[in-house]
Amino acid sequence: MNRAGVRVDTTAVDAGTSADVAVVGAGPAGLYAAYCAGFRGLSSVLIDALPEPGGQIAALYPEKKIYDIAGHPAVRGRELVDGLVAQVEPFRPVYLLGRTAVSLTSDGGGGWTIGVEGGRRVRAGAVVVAAGLGRSTPRTLPCLGPYQGRGVAYHVPRLDEHRGRDVVIVGGGDSAVDWALALAPIARSVTVVHRRSAFRAHEHGVKRMYASGVRVITGAEVVECRGAGRLEEVRVRVGEEQWELPAQALVAALGFITDLGPIADWGLRMMNRRIMVDATMRTNVPGVYAIGDMCFYEGRVPLISVGFGEAATAANHVAVELRPGSRLAPEHSTGTDGALMS
Ligand SMILES: Cc1cc2nc3c(=O)[nH]c(=O)nc-3n(C[C@H](O)[C@H](O)[C@H](O)COP(=O)(O)OP(=O)(O)OC[C@H]3O[C@@H](n4cnc5c(N)ncnc54)[C@H](O)[C@@H]3O)c2cc1C
Repeated sequence: MNRAGVRVDTTAVDAGTSADVAVVGAGPAGLYAAYCAGFRGLSSVLIDALPEPGGQIAALYPEKKIYDIAGHPAVRGRELVDGLVAQVEPFRPVYLLGRTAVSLTSDGGGGWTIGVEGGRRVRAGAVVVAAGLGRSTPRTLPCLGPYQGRGVAYHVPRLDEHRGRDVVIVGGGDSAVDWALALAPIARSVTVVHRRSAFRAHEHGVKRMYASGVRVITGAEVVECRGAGRLEEVRVRVGEEQWELPAQALVAALGFITDLGPIADWGLRMMNRRIMVDATMRTNVPGVYAIGDMCFYEGRVPLISVGFGEAATAANHVAVELRPGSRLAPEHSTGTDGALMS
C-alpha cells in the first residue's frame, strides 16, 4: 500500500505485466479511464512517474477546494483523488507508481508493449495516454538532495504527517503560501524562506500568511541541511548573516519543470506539445488513445471535467476495439449495482 492506501503491484511487474489497457498517467483523467475500462470488463494497468495517484491535484493542490466538478459544489483535491481511487478499486487495476513509461513498441499483432523505467515491460491490447503536462521534475537547491525523502520533500501528501514538527517551506509562490497556511495549525512551527523581498503568490494569501503566526524570512536562502540520518536543522543565509533553524521537515515549493519526456519519441502526432486526437480520442497510432491535458483538438478546454468525458469516450471506444461486436454505449450504471459490464 502507498500513502494513499492504493494497492501497488510490484511483483507481477517483475515477470512482465499484461492487461487489456495500459493507462499512462494516474491523474484524474487516467484514473477515470481505468474506471470506465473496468466498467466495460477490461483490466488495466496505471503507470505514473509520481509516487501516488492524482496527477497535478495530488502533487500541487491536494488541500485546495475545487468548485467546478459536476455534482460537487466544493471538493478538496485530496477527496476527489481518494474518490477516484475508491471508484476504480472494485476493478482491481494494477498501479505502477514512481515509474516513468519510457517506450512504446508494437507487438505486431495489434497489441503494445510499454517499457517502464527500470527495464520492466507492460503488455496491453490498447494504450491510453493520460500524461497531463508530461513528466514533472521539481525545482530544487543543491543542498537539499542528500536529505530528499529524509525530511526534504517537494509537496505535502498528508498534512498530518507534519504534526508537531518544525517545518521550513522554501519558495515565494502560491504553493509555498498555501502549504504555510495549511500547516500553520498543525506543525509546531512553520517558517517560510523566500529569496526575494516580495511574494509572487496572491496578495490575499500573503496577507493571511503574515497574520497567521507563520514566520516569514525574505531576502534569504537555505544554504545547508544538517542532521544525522534525517533532517534536523537548516542553515539560512540572510544578507551577511547565517541563521540556524530547527527543521524536521523542509518543503521545497519552488515549482516544477515539465516536459513531454519519452512520450515525444513514441511516433504520436503532436500539436503544441500535445497529442492530436480525433473525436474518439484516437491518435494517429492505431490502438493508442490520448485524453486529458495531454491531448489536443481544436477548442479543447483544459479542465478536470473535460478530461473525465474524454476518459469515458476513449474507454468505450477501446472496449469496441478489443471486443469487436460489442456496443459503443455502455449499459447505464444505475442498472448494474456497479458490476462489471462487457
Ligand atoms: C494550482 C492548480 C489549480 C487547478 N484548479 C483547477 C480547478 O479548479 N478545476 C479544474 O478543472 N482544473 C484545475 N486545474 C487543472 C487540473 O489540475 C488539470 O486539468 C488536471 O489535473 C489534468 O488532469 P490529467 O489527468 O489530464 O493530467 P495530470 O493531472 O497532469 O496527470 C498526469 C499524470 O501523468 C504522469 N506522467 C506524465 N508522463 C508520464 C510518463 N511518461 N510515465 C508515467 N507517468 C507520466 C504525471 O506524473 C501525472 O501524474 C488546476 C491546476 C493547478 C496547477
